[in-house]
Amino acid sequence: MEQGKRAVAWIDEKAQALIDLSDRIWEYAEVGLQEMKSATDQADFLRAEGFEIESGVAGMPSAFVASWGSGKPVIAFLGEYDALPGITQKPIPVKAPHRTGAPGHGCGHNLLGVGAVGAAAAMKREMEEQGIPGTVRYYGCPAEETLVGKVFMVKAGLFEDVDAAITWHPSSLNAAWNNSSNAMNSVKFTFHGRTAHAAGDPHHGRSALDAVELMNVGANYLREHIIEKARIHYVITDGGGEPNVVPAHAQVWYYVRAPERHQVEEIYAWLLDIARGAALMTGTIWDVKFLVGCYNYLPSKPINALLHKYMEQIGPNRWTEDELEFARKMNESFAPGQKEAGLKAAKVPAEVFTQLINDTIIPPKDDEPPMAGSTDVGDVSWVTPTGQFGTATGVLGQPGHSWQVTACSGMSIGHKGMLQAAKVMALAGLELVTNPAELAKAREAWTEQTKDHPYKTPVPEGVEPPLDQLPKH
Ligand SMILES: [Zn+2]
Repeated sequence: MEQGKRAVAWIDEKAQALIDLSDRIWEYAEVGLQEMKSATDQADFLRAEGFEIESGVAGMPSAFVASWGSGKPVIAFLGEYDALPGITQKPIPVKAPHRTGAPGHGCGHNLLGVGAVGAAAAMKREMEEQGIPGTVRYYGCPAEETLVGKVFMVKAGLFEDVDAAITWHPSSLNAAWNNSSNAMNSVKFTFHGRTAHAAGDPHHGRSALDAVELMNVGANYLREHIIEKARIHYVITDGGGEPNVVPAHAQVWYYVRAPERHQVEEIYAWLLDIARGAALMTGTIWDVKFLVGCYNYLPSKPINALLHKYMEQIGPNRWTEDELEFARKMNESFAPGQKEAGLKAAKVPAEVFTQLINDTIIPPKDDEPPMAGSTDVGDVSWVTPTGQFGTATGVLGQPGHSWQVTACSGMSIGHKGMLQAAKVMALAGLELVTNPAELAKAREAWTEQTKDHPYKTPVPEGVEPPLDQLPKH
């Protein structure tokens, strides 16, 4: 039998069950580290398919690993299932909250997780029937949006014996991702001063808010002396209570991003000095809470070439008149020029500009500029060769992290893109497990990419997953 036939047929047979699972997770819309129902439903599905489940790994209740088979090679599929706060939306093309104020799958992670679940189960089915040796795993990775899950799963050593990893992301384009992402630190600085009546005896007060402001001034001057591609952003999470009270406590939350991990470390060390300086200037004391750090993503070009090959083989989805009408309606909600600007930046072929939903396969590029954003897939890519791609699960021109993404992720456009992704991943996984030359190629490229800076967890000693930072209800 032609390789992959059984796996693809299994996904077709199980399509409705996979769609139902994805729709349930879309309904749950649980935010990072709280995705207990989403994780449990996925684990139950894989258990029923014969996988062994290890739950609550790496100190996170909603993280799990599902494993089937034994011995080498070990192929990992990465899944996510966290939603975004506030991005609730019905699966319709005009803005309409599904549950007022609730989270929603505005990044399509309901599709992401279930697509990878489908790939793992389909690959297992074919390996079992064909007597193919090796191990297939699904990594249930919580809290991608806050860059937590995979960083702590890597730190816990869960990827140590993995030979290659494959993941995907819901997108508006069918394309392998040969671009890197930014490494990042997420850190909260708290200043402690002394309260006093702001008019009556301010000279007795020491303002923690002054320290926050001076720290921000310092950070803004720092910008000129760091590499252009770095990004620093902050929000003040506590600025005191009312003007007539000298604030005894204040807090500012920073992200530091740069193309490479050591650049983040250098800028971050400088930022610590700025915090120290702000405390000295204001007579306050300070502490720092390191929430999480992550690495840049190292694209595995050999694995991405396989993903592209199988995307071509499976072919792009064809869209029904209803789906195209949905897209036409949704286009009315986009800012003028938004779709064109996005497609231009992605350097897509000319024919894509006139499409409503992508129905072609975009050829991979070697010279893609890095994404400015960050992902914890980065950390996995530093410990094992990792391929990543997107399929069209939404309308061309939709903004990221938006109600439009939530809408498409809960209806047929998202479902079809998810099933396509599952097939592509299963086929690429089967190729890696049966073709040692491909696996060696991926390993060789990865060894070259990582030789100068071996991975060291970005998380300082003693820092645990930020379960204490969960939003209160
Ligand atoms: Zn995402």
